[in-house]
Amino acid sequence: MSGRAVRKIIAANWKMNKTVAEALAFADEFAALWSGQGGVEVVICPPFTALYPLGQRLQGSGLLLGAQDLFWEERGAFTGEVAAFMLREAGASHVIVGHSERRHLLGESDADVRRKLQRALQEGLYPILCVGETLPQREGGEAEAVVCAQLRAALQGCPPSPARLLVAYEPVWAIGTGRNAEPADARHMALVIRRELESLLGRAGAEVRVLYGGSVTPDNVAGYTGMVEMDGALVGGASLRPESLAAIVRRTEEAGHAT
Ligand code: PEP
Repeated sequence: MSGRAVRKIIAANWKMNKTVAEALAFADEFAALWSGQGGVEVVICPPFTALYPLGQRLQGSGLLLGAQDLFWEERGAFTGEVAAFMLREAGASHVIVGHSERRHLLGESDADVRRKLQRALQEGLYPILCVGETLPQREGGEAEAVVCAQLRAALQGCPPSPARLLVAYEPVWAIGTGRNAEPADARHMALVIRRELESLLGRAGAEVRVLYGGSVTPDNVAGYTGMVEMDGALVGGASLRPESLAAIVRRTEEAGHAT
């Protein structure tokens, strides 16, 4: 594990926030705060409407663009959906798949998540696959079983070498609640996830980057991203202000230098 040399990644999930004008203003303010020299990859995931203009604004900046969802079919009569090739054309390299808000609020099933993941991989996107247990599941001692089952369901039939896959461990009870997981618990789950990935994917499983998400802030991020077992963080609320996201990236850079 300590031999893994990967760039840490901070992915910003803006959810259903920001107009195009607000997204562009964020990009300009963030660019003034971020040197781009610290070795941390930063991916901004705005709403669909801001993808293309933000992608244009980010060109040459070193910042990466991600979408928050995609549809599994290639193209066609699927009113309201957005295809992977459209995300690519808009400038996205990454896409969040199976976020718990989609699973729990919008009824996205394991089968839906699997189809979306496979489409993202087929089309050359970097999927950020979200997994995580609810509070009753954690309190019932089922957290590991739930997360492993979500991984197995999502990766069933996955190409054998998913070099572009990222997995975000996001305990549902920690998302948007201000109640972040203990770093030691997140570390434990990162090891569980890695063991499951290696059993599903063989040696390629070791290459998958594992992130933590759930009430990450500038004050707590280093507790996660400073560990060798954790390759970064997926950040919701604290990514909405440029200075807050810049502080999260800076603390991750500093934590990397300390390890
Ligand atoms: C998320 O939306 O993926 C998330 C982790 O949100 P927050 O950081 O607000 O908990």
